[in-house]
Amino acid sequence: MAGMRLTVIGCSGSFPGPDSPASSYLLEAEGFRLVMDMGNGALGILQRHAELFGVDAICVSHLHGDHCIDLSSYWIARQYAPEGPRPPIPVYGPKGTAQRVAGFCGEDVASIQARFEVHDLDQQSQEIGPFRVTTERMNHPVETFGFRVEHAGWRLAYSADTGPTDALVRLAEGVDVLLCEASFRDSETNPPNLHLSGRQAGEHATRAGAGELVLTHLVPWYDREQSLAEAAGSYCGPLSAATSGLVLGPVTAR
Ligand SMILES: [Zn+2]
Repeated sequence: MAGMRLTVIGCSGSFPGPDSPASSYLLEAEGFRLVMDMGNGALGILQRHAELFGVDAICVSHLHGDHCIDLSSYWIARQYAPEGPRPPIPVYGPKGTAQRVAGFCGEDVASIQARFEVHDLDQQSQEIGPFRVTTERMNHPVETFGFRVEHAGWRLAYSADTGPTDALVRLAEGVDVLLCEASFRDSETNPPNLHLSGRQAGEHATRAGAGELVLTHLVPWYDREQSLAEAAGSYCGPLSAATSGLVLGPVTAR
C-alpha cells in the first residue's frame, strides 16, 4: 500500500443504524492499523476489513458508548482468545478510559490494562505507528478529542462529536479530507454545545479550507440527503456522506 487508507467501519450517529455500526474508522499505512473509535457493532464489521488481532493501536475520541463500547467486546476477544491472551496494544483515550472499559466488562482496571496499554490523551501531537496524530479538545459535554492524522503528505481531520468550535477549524486547517459529524438538522431548535448540523459542518469545512468534506455521525432518524443539502449551502467543495465500507485516501480511485 503506497499511502494511507481510511475505511469507514461505522458512521451511524448516537446508535447503530440498519446499515452501519456506530462510530469507528480504520486507518492503514505501511502495514500498521489504527482504529479511531469503537462504537456499538464496530468490532463485527471491522473483521470484514482487518484480522481480528490485526489492530496495532486504538484511539478513542470520548467515552460516550456510541464511540467506545466495543472496546469491551475487543477486550473480551483479546483476553479469551483460544490460543491464550493477546499481548497488550496501545489505547489512547480521555482520562478514565480504562475505568470505563472495566465498568462495561465487570472487571477491575488491572485486568483491562493487561490487554490494553491505556494512554491519556491531551491536546498534543504524537507519532502513533507511521501516523502523526494531533488532538484538540472539541465542544461536547464530556472531554472529547478531535483528531488530525497525517501520513506522507496526506491529511485527514475527524471531528468526533462536537458543537461549533474554532478548535475544529484549527484542527482541520488545509486538510485533504474533513470527516465531520452532522448529527442535527438545521431546521430544529437544537441544544447548544453538543453536535453540528449539516450547515455547520459545511461552515467549519469552508473556514478550515478543507479539500473535501465527508459527513458522518448521521443519526438514523434523520434524512442524510437533507444533511447533504444543508452542507452544500455552506461548503462548495467535493461533498459526500459516509457509509460503512467507504474508503478514503490518496491512492483510492473513487
Ligand atoms: Zn458523544
